Amino acid sequence: MGGRYLVTGGAGYVGSHIVKTLVERGDDVVVLDDLRQGHRAAVPPSAELVVAEIGDRRRLGEVFAAWRFDAVFHFAALSLVGESMRDPLRYCSENLSNSLAVADAAVKAGCLRFVLSSTAALFGFPKSIPIDETAEIAPVSAYGESKLMVERALAWADQVHGLRSAALRYFNAAGADPSGAIGEDHEPETHLIPLAIGAALGTRPPLTVFGTDYPTDDGTCIRDYVHVMDLADAHLRVLDRLEQGSCRFNIGNGTGYSVKQVIDSVERIGGRPVPHSFGPRRAGDPAVLVASSARLREETGWAPRFAALDDIVRTAWAWHAAHPKGFGDRG
Ligand code: UDP
Repeated sequence: MGGRYLVTGGAGYVGSHIVKTLVERGDDVVVLDDLRQGHRAAVPPSAELVVAEIGDRRRLGEVFAAWRFDAVFHFAALSLVGESMRDPLRYCSENLSNSLAVADAAVKAGCLRFVLSSTAALFGFPKSIPIDETAEIAPVSAYGESKLMVERALAWADQVHGLRSAALRYFNAAGADPSGAIGEDHEPETHLIPLAIGAALGTRPPLTVFGTDYPTDDGTCIRDYVHVMDLADAHLRVLDRLEQGSCRFNIGNGTGYSVKQVIDSVERIGGRPVPHSFGPRRAGDPAVLVASSARLREETGWAPRFAALDDIVRTAWAWHAAHPKGFGDRG
């Protein structure tokens, strides 16, 4: 028999890929999303969509009373690092208070399994690579800080209420559902792969490479791109792992690719050039971020199915080429 899950932010990029994975394996899914960033069309018809503010405690109480959930997957959050440095108080307050409202409703309803979408931004400028779970936690953005506050609050909820939580610290989520049904559609879009693909397709302006003087082989930043379906798989695996108690995992492919390597990959897969120019560094960008997912692999058996950058870019390219306006629900 399948389970029943609440997915907050389930109409968004990462959340919708988990929802699809859950419904395809026969689980019942309720999506709670305010549709500010999410898309109605990203939610499959077999999932229930509740459109509401995430921090609306009355609605949360109603949702938890109407369905008995086996676990909550909490994705809904503000997630732009740059924006968080223009409005840090909003990021800290909204991300913390919404998460606490969801966790509180879960505890009150006796739903004691909680999977949090967390971030590599907890590690700020890391002292060594790859980054495992023992690395120093030292966020350098209000976004990273806001997720840290949530992780810490969840640890107290475990101690006091027995709320078992898994925090998955994503590195760079990328790619799209290989069936082509859903993909990445942010506005504004700030992420490298969709911007590079959009530049190649002519649906977005030429790309600006942020900095060419980093201490890396080609001078551009190195990141760890992990496929969104591999993220989905990890979420399901940590659910089982929660039986042993709360846990924190870093999740990435474990291989770093530079901005120039990403451009090369997009050109290879798309068969056309990525128009681009070189600009200054973007504030707050560490030179290299690469995850060690050894703990996740050992404790859950997870391994990425899309380990090669070209395989990730291929699924992203297919989605953007077929959906030049994304879900097509913006004016
Ligand atoms: N980047 C870039 N130009 C862009 C967007 C991103 O050169 O228009 C670089 C950015 O500096 C970083 C990498 O691409 O080194 C990945 O950035 P993204 O915003 O996708 O993810 P982040 O690593 O910030 O989470």
